[in-house]
Amino acid sequence: MRCPKCGSFNDKVLDTRQSKDGTVIRRRRECLDCGYRFTTYERIEEEKIIVKKKNGTTEPFNKEKIIRGIKLAAKNRPITDTQIQNIADEIEKYLLEEGKLVVESSEIGDLVKERLKELDPITYIRFKSVYNQFSDIKDFKQTIQEIEKEEDK
Ligand SMILES: [Zn+2]
Repeated sequence: MRCPKCGSFNDKVLDTRQSKDGTVIRRRRECLDCGYRFTTYERIEEEKIIVKKKNGTTEPFNKEKIIRGIKLAAKNRPITDTQIQNIADEIEKYLLEEGKLVVESSEIGDLVKERLKELDPITYIRFKSVYNQFSDIKDFKQTIQEIEKEEDK
């Protein structure tokens, strides 16, 4: 850390403290060249992805929400928590890598569906229906047919 007084990069940490809730680490430092003491703070970088919902409102991207949604759909299916966690991690990574800082909620839904379709067709259908993406029974039948076709391959 560069000394704010003399600009030297030589410093030592005198003291490290963690905030009560564990989200911030505070370090007391001393410049080895001029003896000036200063404080630095370390915290987890906040997710900067914003999700635009169908009704036009926005909210911060929330990985837990994706996980909850998949868990609901994957109930009693042979899908592990780790697999669900991985899907959520992958989606977050994808959005950050693509630099998608504003993303439609429907796009997140599509990203989840893509992965569920490969992982488990039943969970995929349930996920789709939970999110009201069947406009009618015809749409539902079509999806079932699509999956049956995939399975025949
Ligand atoms: Zn200094």
